[in-house]
Amino acid sequence: MPLTRREFTAAMLGAAGASALAPAALARLFDDDVFFEWRPVADGAWAILGAGGNALLIKSRDETLLIDCKNFGLGPTLLEECLRRTDAITLALNTHHHGDHVGGNPTLNATGVPIVAHANAEPRLAQTGAQMSALFTAGQEREAQWADQVRGQGHTDAGGERAAALVPEAFAQGRGLGERAFVPSRTVGDADELRVGDLTVQLRHIGPGHTDNDVYAVIPQLNLLHTGDLCFHRLHPFIDMGAGASSAGWIESCDAMLAECDADTTVIPGHGEIGDRSAIRGQREYFSILRDRMAEARAEGLSRDEAVALTIDEFEGYGFERIKERTFGDVYDEMGAG
Ligand SMILES: [Zn+2]
Repeated sequence: MPLTRREFTAAMLGAAGASALAPAALARLFDDDVFFEWRPVADGAWAILGAGGNALLIKSRDETLLIDCKNFGLGPTLLEECLRRTDAITLALNTHHHGDHVGGNPTLNATGVPIVAHANAEPRLAQTGAQMSALFTAGQEREAQWADQVRGQGHTDAGGERAAALVPEAFAQGRGLGERAFVPSRTVGDADELRVGDLTVQLRHIGPGHTDNDVYAVIPQLNLLHTGDLCFHRLHPFIDMGAGASSAGWIESCDAMLAECDADTTVIPGHGEIGDRSAIRGQREYFSILRDRMAEARAEGLSRDEAVALTIDEFEGYGFERIKERTFGDVYDEMGAG
């Protein structure tokens, strides 16, 4: 549910402290033409909502890290809106290879912003580039269709218009890079650390979860955690079995993330509302319950079709209802393997 203008302003003032902001900064924060919804979550840190997975911009001194970069076609718009808050993006992170988190990679690569991703993500991002090359060269009609879709997704009407006008630039950047458009500049292993000005950003990959290349990011100095898609907050989660996902592994990732949190940690989930550690507990609980129910369904002799049609009371009101049956089916299959 989007915030009303008044709630949005109140949240801004509460989080950022109105008196601490110069008038020019206030004007930029309250601008009426944004495509994305910008939420301050800590000093020099903004969550960026809408049109893809939740992104996060972290600024310290003259360095800025962008975590995830939305759907394809929106790279130029995202970059432009980031540059209203910082002079340059010095580093980017892909939490995993999915298109709704790496869509801006061609723009970042074309403008010389280094992209970091887990080593397992690299071949998958190379594959994305190979698949997307055909789209880059599909012609103006296809670009116009893409722009029309983008136009309706803006947080403001003016933002939608501006983003639509920038779609051809995203296509041109993709064409310029071809199959290399999405590949990261550098890969990391299971534990690494990035420096952003005075801040340390800890990166962790626990094992297969939502995919085989999930990285979550912890910024202890800001008490902030970006989960990537290891947390769908009160939404049915997508388990990418084709990319090595595992609900059992996902639970282990949740436990590792929970160990990083205290009662005051701000949690940016990959999808859904910004929350605290209860969002991650909810994700863990989801799989714990679902695995039990699917194991029971198998024990009772229920077919896959019967099992995916089950209703689980604890998930009442969860969004992404359209993928519920797929998720249930994937866990049903997982409980039958081995
Ligand atoms: Zn994902």
